[in-house]
Amino acid sequence: MGFATIAIHAGQEPDSATGAVTVPIYQTSTYAQDGLGKNKGYEYARTSNPTRLALERNLAALEGAQFGYCFASGMSAIDATLRLVKGGEHVVVSDNTYGGTFRLFTRILANYGVEFDFVNTSEVSNVEAAIKDNTRMVFVETPTNPVMMVTDLKAVSEVAHAAGARVVCDNTFMSPYLQRPLDFGVDIVVHSTTKFLNGHSDGIGGAVVLNNEDDASWIQFVQNSAGAILSPFDSWLVLRGTKTLALRMEQHDRSGRAVAAFLEDHPKVRKIYYPGSPSHKQYELAKRQQKGFGSMVSFDVGSFEGARTVLESVRLCTLAESLGGVETLICHPATMTHASVAPETRERLGITDGLVRVSVGIEDTDDIIADLDQALNTVTSDK
Ligand SMILES: *Cc1c(COP(=O)(O)O)cnc(C)c1O
Repeated sequence: MGFATIAIHAGQEPDSATGAVTVPIYQTSTYAQDGLGKNKGYEYARTSNPTRLALERNLAALEGAQFGYCFASGMSAIDATLRLVKGGEHVVVSDNTYGGTFRLFTRILANYGVEFDFVNTSEVSNVEAAIKDNTRMVFVETPTNPVMMVTDLKAVSEVAHAAGARVVCDNTFMSPYLQRPLDFGVDIVVHSTTKFLNGHSDGIGGAVVLNNEDDASWIQFVQNSAGAILSPFDSWLVLRGTKTLALRMEQHDRSGRAVAAFLEDHPKVRKIYYPGSPSHKQYELAKRQQKGFGSMVSFDVGSFEGARTVLESVRLCTLAESLGGVETLICHPATMTHASVAPETRERLGITDGLVRVSVGIEDTDDIIADLDQALNTVTSDK
């Protein structure tokens, strides 16, 4: 079956009690039991809930995985995944990872003796060089935020597996429609469902999907023990979101390409970051590994003042953090999403004061471009 069919049907059957075509929001904390030790497969809603279970099956199917677990946020999904490693073990991480991931690893998990090394995983030799005897996990994000570095998932998986380490990929930016990391040998996929999977900017959530049975039962054990579960209502919202994922991603991708091409030619834009641009260093890899390029585009207008002017002049695009919604969102990574990253690190990663990031929505493409054009034309300095 094709992706769109799986997205609409996997994990979902008409409700057994009523025939409701849409999976109901089972807003309950507990379930009546028929007798001691006799129940219908549900005992307590932290452990399992039919709405959440439907979403977990749906997301697993979309990534081509056997098991899926949903969490209250992308960060709690990543936190649960990191419970697969113990104090004294080592994790290699993409250096340009999501800021919240960097914060969780360095400020919290490091206190429990988990060792982290952050390297540019877009060069597989860096991963190879960082692997140590105690390396148990390689955690990558591709493309990265906001400078769109691409990591070769197959090459990294080979290097990690040779050393006995699992590979985790944060697939939030691409969604399973545009990239299926497990197909390249990755062991575990994590998502912030807050972004493209839910797609409507109205809920926070996360997911972990994987095939290894032992790791899956540990993730499930962590989910139930620590209890950072996704609520029935939020599960329902994401289920509603994935039904249109294929359609939305097609349009995000189409408009993403058009906006990137427009920006690349604009006299006020000095540099763009978009894996779908033939000028991107890893264009060929992105083409091979991804089904499309998505709708995250960053561009540099050369100065903080220039960026401020653009961000304050847009009318249709909304100045906000986050991404992956139907509406176009625009932000300033240096002072917003990446404010907690040290200035030297920002400089090294290319997160300059003039950098602007756009999450291209699914409004009419011409309207998005016209808005960016009028905003850019208010910038005074030229290329
Ligand atoms: C947003 C995001 C997260 C964190 O997800 P939350 O749902 O905000 O907790 C993790 N990784 C990436 C790539 C993200 O964009």
